[in-house]
Amino acid sequence: MPELLWLLLPVAAASGWYVARCEYRRRTQPVNESGSIPQEYIKGLNYLLNEQPDKAVDTFLRVVELDRDTLELHLALGSLFRKRGEVDRAIRIHQRLLEEKGIPDSLYRYTLLELAKDYMSAGLLDRAENLCLELVDSQPGHIKALTVLYEVYQQEKDWFRAIDIARKLATGQRELNYQTDIAHFYCELADAALLQNELANASRFLDKALNEDHHCGRAYLQQAAIAQRSAQWQQAIDSYQTLASAAPYLLGEVVTEMEQCYRSLNAQAKMLDFLAGIVPENQNTDLLLARTALIQHQQGRVAARDFLSTQLKTIPSLKGIKALAELGGDDTPTEHNQLIAAAVANIIKDKPLYHCEHCGFASRVMHWNCPSCKCWGNVKPIREFRWGASI
Ligand SMILES: [Zn+2]
Repeated sequence: MPELLWLLLPVAAASGWYVARCEYRRRTQPVNESGSIPQEYIKGLNYLLNEQPDKAVDTFLRVVELDRDTLELHLALGSLFRKRGEVDRAIRIHQRLLEEKGIPDSLYRYTLLELAKDYMSAGLLDRAENLCLELVDSQPGHIKALTVLYEVYQQEKDWFRAIDIARKLATGQRELNYQTDIAHFYCELADAALLQNELANASRFLDKALNEDHHCGRAYLQQAAIAQRSAQWQQAIDSYQTLASAAPYLLGEVVTEMEQCYRSLNAQAKMLDFLAGIVPENQNTDLLLARTALIQHQQGRVAARDFLSTQLKTIPSLKGIKALAELGGDDTPTEHNQLIAAAVANIIKDKPLYHCEHCGFASRVMHWNCPSCKCWGNVKPIREFRWGASI
C-alpha cells in the first residue's frame, strides 16, 4: 500500500498539471485546438496504476509524439522512475526526449542533465561524465552539471579532477565551503603515495591539504605516520601535539602510536604531561585510559585506580568502568571485578564507536567519507558522556 501511495502522488500531480494545462489551452485557443486528455495518456496512467511500468512508459512515449506540451510531464516521470530505482526506464524516457526535434534549448539541456543523473545511478560513470562535460562546455558555470561531475570524479577516485571541480563549484557558490573536501582529496592522494612508498610525494600532498584546511586532523595523523616510518619520533610527536589543538577528538585514535614515539625516546613521563595538559572538554575515554595506563606504569595500580575513579565522575563511560573493574580493589583484582569487566565488555562489544555528525550514520570503524551522506570529515568518535551512550 505505501508503494502504491508513493506512485499515486506524482501521478495525481501530473494529472492535475495536465488537466490545468488543457483548461488553460481551452480558454486561450480555438475550440478545435483545446485538446481533451489524449486516450493514450489515460491508458498510460492505467498501466502505471496497475503496476505495468514498461507498458506505461511505451504509452507515455507515444503521447510525446502526439502532444509536445507533455515534455515536462515526461521529465517528471523520468525523475520519478530514477528515484524509485527503475533507472532503465528513466534512461529510456530521457533518451527518447532528446531525440525530439525542435525541443527548446533549455529543456534539451535539462534532459541531458537528467540523463547524466540516470547514468550515475546506473553506475555508468563515463557516460554521465561525457554528458556533464558537454553541458559545462556549452555553459562553463553550469553548477548542476559540475555537481554531478564532482560525484563522478569522487566515485572514480580521480582526486585531481575532483579538486579542480571543487574549486569551480566554490567559485560559483561562495556560500559553500569546499576546503574540507579538497583537504581530504589531498589526503587521499597522500595515502596513494604512501602505498607506493613515495614519502616525499605524500608529504607534499599533506602540505597542500593543510594549506587548504589547517584543521584537517587526518593530514596531521598522516604526517605523524610518515615521521614514524622514518623513526623521526620527535617530529611525529610534534604532529600529534598540533593535532591536539586542530582536531583533539582524533587523538584517542592514535594513543598506541603516540606511546611508541614517547617510548622510543624513553620519555613516557612527557606523554603523561602532554595528556594531562589536554583541556578537559577535549578529553575522551581513550586518552583517559592512556593516562591511567601511564600512571599505573609509573606510580602503581592503586594510584591508577584512584585517578580513573575520580575522572570517571566527569567523563563517565562503559569502557572506563570496565578498565576500573580490571584495576580491582585495594589488594588485587577480585573474581567479582573480573566478572564486572567481562559483563561490561559484553555490553559494549557491538556498540558503534563512530557516528556522522551530519546524517547520524553509526559505525564501529572510522570513515573519512561518510558511506551514508558522502560528507567528508564528519564521522567522529562518539563521545557523549551519557551512561549507555558513551563507551
Ligand atoms: Zn553522514
